[in-house]
Amino acid sequence: MTDADTSATCSRAGCRAPASWRIDWRNPRIHTGDRRKTWVACDEHVGYLREFLAARSFPLDVSALEAAS
Ligand SMILES: [Zn+2]
Repeated sequence: MTDADTSATCSRAGCRAPASWRIDWRNPRIHTGDRRKTWVACDEHVGYLREFLAARSFPLDVSALEAAS
């Protein structure tokens, strides 16, 4: 898997824009312990993806992608 690829494009389906945000999230039902998923998002879709996860009450953490590299 390439969840945390720093040169990734936006995780939104069909979007080819370069990502500038990362969203670390967890599904408490399937992710045990500190297992996490990372999505990356462009400026346009970071809000969409965050709302998608928030609507499911998944714990999430949004940060700038540049800060990680
Ligand atoms: Zn996008």
